[in-house]
Amino acid sequence: MYSVDEALEKILQVFTVLPAERIPLAQGLGRILAEPITARENLPPFDNSSMDGYALIAADAAHASAQNPITLKVVADIPAGTASDRVISRGEAARIMTGAPLPPGADCVIPIENTDNPPGQFTESGAFPPATVTLFRALQPGDYVRFAGEDIRPGDLILKAGRRLRPADLGALAGLGVPQVQVVRRPRVAILSTGDELLRADQPLVPGKIRDINSYALAASVLDMGAQVIPLGTAPDQLNVVLSKLEEAIRADADLILSSAGVSVGAYDVVKTAMESLGALDFWKVNMRPGRPLAFGRVGSIPFIGLPGNPVSALITFEVFARPAIRKMQGLSLHLSLDEAETTEDMASDGRRTYARVRLERDQGRLIARSTGTQSSGAIHSMVQAQGLLIIPEGMKYVPAGTKLPVRIFEHFEDET
Ligand code: AMP
Ligand code: MG
Repeated sequence: MYSVDEALEKILQVFTVLPAERIPLAQGLGRILAEPITARENLPPFDNSSMDGYALIAADAAHASAQNPITLKVVADIPAGTASDRVISRGEAARIMTGAPLPPGADCVIPIENTDNPPGQFTESGAFPPATVTLFRALQPGDYVRFAGEDIRPGDLILKAGRRLRPADLGALAGLGVPQVQVVRRPRVAILSTGDELLRADQPLVPGKIRDINSYALAASVLDMGAQVIPLGTAPDQLNVVLSKLEEAIRADADLILSSAGVSVGAYDVVKTAMESLGALDFWKVNMRPGRPLAFGRVGSIPFIGLPGNPVSALITFEVFARPAIRKMQGLSLHLSLDEAETTEDMASDGRRTYARVRLERDQGRLIARSTGTQSSGAIHSMVQAQGLLIIPEGMKYVPAGTKLPVRIFEHFEDET
């Protein structure tokens, strides 16, 4: 019998980070950066106005105030998207819009609100600036100017390799003129449900049959991680069918095959036989609850994890073993921090490491965990209700109310109704 940590360590040994691929930025959300990104340009690329106003020389406005208005001659008009090379001299100003480049000679901008806001002239060929502008406040050099490179400079390390790309990252890359990025290839995970009893969700029930829960739940878990699913569907407990499904995974060039069920020592378990003809398989008893039986091996050179059939066991063993394996292929950290929750009722365990389905509540900064009720490994509703998994360590058989234990909070639990 392995401990959870021993089993996980053995599994992780066979996984390495996948190779990188170059993709357009627009497809980058959620992908894992495979290269560090160092800026090659300034952001902003040029000195520009942070306000709609007038660009001028601060020395001209040194003594301007409401009582002492100063009037300058407007000699240029610089809408955003244009650039003016008209040098601003003493006594002159250029009308300028937010984001437009500061014209040569000017060293500051006065917001339109601090001027007499003179109306421009409108003609058939467009809007013209007024002939003069009157200032009602003093300015310092640099006022209302965003300087080239004040946000990002060439040589700045913007993003480190291994980062999962977020919306702001993609925006920064676009702003820096990086249209493509090297990201870790998405892991391809083949998913197979085995068992004579399985029907698809769209098939009517007939006596003795149940609908396949695991294919759907495991595929969603994989997709949620930013990996790709190779759906193998269901296979009855028939050697030739299981074999052909596994061969399909080989042809699809899977990086990992996940199956559920058929790995306990039931008389009809054919996964073992199929696996032995295509690769190798080991059966493990893992000291955890739920999900004691686990199979691990390879199909050809593709790692294979055989999860238990009970839907809760399948999902929890996915969390404990498959998620870290996929994260390793993605080049992500394996050291996820856990939160700490306090139990509200006495709980019992059998000494195996237990992943208890809990509801969570925040109470003045403390996180409170309450069992979802049934902890049956077949009861998918307990997973539906759960907001996290409370981890009762090995050897702890009695958990009195008020015990603080690590908890893995499910993502999006705030979105739940
Ligand atoms: P097994 O590992 O084959 O002994 O299956 C354990 C239990 O899980 C049995 O009650 C199966 O009917 C159930 N089971 C197996 N696969 C699935 C599945 N894909 N969806 C729902 N229940 C399943
Ligand atoms: Mg079965």
